[in-house]
Amino acid sequence: MSRDLIAGLEQQLRELDAQALRRKLRVTDSPCDAQIRVDGRDMLAFCSNDYLGLAAHPHIVEALREGALRYGAGSGASHLISGHSRAHAVLEERLAEFVSPQIDNARALYFCTGYMANLAMLGALGGTDAELFSESLNHASLIDGARLSRAKVQVYPHGDVAQLAALLQASKAETKLVVTDSVFSMDGNLAPLNELTALCEQHGAWLIVDDAHGFGVLGEHGRGVLEHLQLKSPNIVYMGTLGKAAGVAGAFVAAHASVIEWLVQRARPYIYTTASSPAVAHALLTAIDIVAGDEGNARRAKLRMLIEQFCKETVLRNWQLLPSATAIQPVVIGGNDEALRAAAALYDAGYWVPAIRPPTVPAGTARLRVTLSAAHRKEDVSHLSAAILSLENA
Ligand SMILES: *Cc1c(COP(=O)(O)O)cnc(C)c1O
Repeated sequence: MSRDLIAGLEQQLRELDAQALRRKLRVTDSPCDAQIRVDGRDMLAFCSNDYLGLAAHPHIVEALREGALRYGAGSGASHLISGHSRAHAVLEERLAEFVSPQIDNARALYFCTGYMANLAMLGALGGTDAELFSESLNHASLIDGARLSRAKVQVYPHGDVAQLAALLQASKAETKLVVTDSVFSMDGNLAPLNELTALCEQHGAWLIVDDAHGFGVLGEHGRGVLEHLQLKSPNIVYMGTLGKAAGVAGAFVAAHASVIEWLVQRARPYIYTTASSPAVAHALLTAIDIVAGDEGNARRAKLRMLIEQFCKETVLRNWQLLPSATAIQPVVIGGNDEALRAAAALYDAGYWVPAIRPPTVPAGTARLRVTLSAAHRKEDVSHLSAAILSLENA
């Protein structure tokens, strides 16, 4: 009988192959950087979310070592039992201080991953009495969080503030949550957060902002999208990830101290999991210092320059470069097969760029997702543009 179960899965896997939807793991043998050794080959990588090029920064690596020597390797328990080390506590204070210009009475709570932070926010603030309004291009972790929250979920069309206003107007729910990515992870554009904030204040709704691709990158000091737009509201609950621009791992939620205290009491992905290694939290202190300081400023300036250069040099005729001012530069190709062939041809030429297919993006919009990093050189970006242009015209 168990053979039939496995045969069933194997049949489904063959169907994925037939639709060019089968995904494949590649093994890397070097730190995450612009140049990366993958499956035994040196490649120029345009696929990580290491936007500031900090993932292999020697000072952060050294801090990780120091953290392990001071605190050991594992935390040993969940935060509310005995796993909440001094390193976690100091990191949370540092993060709260960092975002405090954008959040009054700020407190921050550190999570093992952004995925868990999203489940935590929606689960703790939602519930069966709540209605949750979710942007249609939201990240999978917000979609899963919405399901787990047990709230009634309404999906509003991408960027459609008027439609959202009508839904909020019609809602009789006691608790309302509007949930959105700040920078859309597969498109690179920004949510209309000024309008969303005004709407949420008008309707007494929470605004949950997932700034996975903004924290560290956007805003003069890298405080993220709220600093970039000069936004501040007691309705905002902010989530930033620390495995992307900050170069390490984990995430944090920042909001009014009472919101955070509620999460400590109620957020199951915080309560029922072993706290991350204290060494990781310790390394993040150095990462935040770099993000917040002159080096962070210089890296953000370099990244902005590379983004402008890529947009200027990548003038497409058949494919479409989506209008994005962020490090996420999607080249929409359309069909799954064609996108996979383009990614494979780039790979053969030494450029590692992922092809993103459904269900991550809508059917018919398979794309190359180019991500730029301050670790790239000008000529790396020029060479990639030229390679994409030659493929498009091949
Ligand atoms: C990457 C990402 C997450 C998940 O964060 P992890 O720390 O990688 O778990 C959540 N939301 C968005 C928009 C992301 O891009």
